[in-house]
Amino acid sequence: MTAVTLGIPSVRGVPRRAATPAGRPRPDTPLLVDRYGRVARDLRVSITTACSLRCTYCMPAEGLPLVPRDELMTPGEIGRLVGIGVRDLGIRDIRFTGGEPLMRRDLEQIIGAAREAADEGMAALATGGTSPERVRIAMTSNALGLDKRVDALVAAGLDRVNVSLDTVDRQAFATLTRRDRLDDVLTGIRAALAAGLAPVKINAVLLPETLAGAADLLAWAVEHGCALRFIEEMPLDADGRWTRDDVVSAADLLEVLGQRFTLTPAGREDPSAPAEEWLVDDGPATVGVIASVTRSFCGACDRTRLTAEGTVRSCLFGNEETDLKALLRAGASDEEVGDAWRAAMWAKPRAHGSDAVELAADAFADTRRSMGAIGG
Ligand code: SAM
Repeated sequence: MTAVTLGIPSVRGVPRRAATPAGRPRPDTPLLVDRYGRVARDLRVSITTACSLRCTYCMPAEGLPLVPRDELMTPGEIGRLVGIGVRDLGIRDIRFTGGEPLMRRDLEQIIGAAREAADEGMAALATGGTSPERVRIAMTSNALGLDKRVDALVAAGLDRVNVSLDTVDRQAFATLTRRDRLDDVLTGIRAALAAGLAPVKINAVLLPETLAGAADLLAWAVEHGCALRFIEEMPLDADGRWTRDDVVSAADLLEVLGQRFTLTPAGREDPSAPAEEWLVDDGPATVGVIASVTRSFCGACDRTRLTAEGTVRSCLFGNEETDLKALLRAGASDEEVGDAWRAAMWAKPRAHGSDAVELAADAFADTRRSMGAIGG
């Protein structure tokens, strides 16, 4: 196995101490289990670090260093890893992200390769003439240019799209993303709805500068039939400016939204879902809040991540990566790749990149990569 250590994460203000015995043996299961009893079934695949926006909480103004083209996973490599993940490791949800997935000209081929591999993987598992379950393939996108490609993406096998949009105020959007492209984003969302990708989910990062416009964003989402979810800002900005004091909490948001809408707690879609939901004006529209900082949900984390370079990350905040692309290119078998993936996930940290049991809910290991470089 090729393990790439990007440095031992230090946790701000918290001692590092393992919460489980270091030598605990891995149970004999093909699934992606970890030392804390979690099972990863949700695969996030970053396919580029390039992006058409420069959101201040994610990217530096000049953009992230581009991964050299021959270091990016190819559609064939992505298809092979998806096939191993679905058939051998229990993956059931796949989401492409970045960077911006639409920056890849071969995105249609990537989705097509993933769809074919996922369908073949499920067909191989179907027994006794039962029709195989469909693995969901989704994408997280800023929707710029989506209107021109959405039909081809759906034809290739895309099931869902989550669009990131923090405000419907044109000036605030231009300041936050360093690009005056709000209208193009809205065009992309409308195209996704027209292409039948409903429900389109909108993800908004909660920021002090957009809090006042949160109710306008919710009104737009309700009017267009989109499911809006706010997420607390995490320390994953490339500029390292995040401070705990600037985090707008779910409680702050609910107070602002409550001035315009009647919000009724609706719980969670399922117990492991990170978003807590509220009915808007008695429904059916809902708004969700992902309190990733003030109420961490690491205990229910079921994610495994592949970076654009083809390394596995078990945790957003962990710096340990295992290079699966190197294994593929060295001629490793599916079994060897699956074993390396399982070993990487077994080492998944308890929470926020650390095994420390004393970890405060809002403490995070310092990660060497920003959200755009990991794939959110
Ligand atoms: N370009 C795509 C997009 O805009 O959705 C995919 C990549 S983007 C990194 C994925 C998600 O990460 C977006 O919803 C973005 O808002 C979120 N994100 C980026 N930086 C974040 C941060 N510091 N805290 C919380 N979410 C963040």
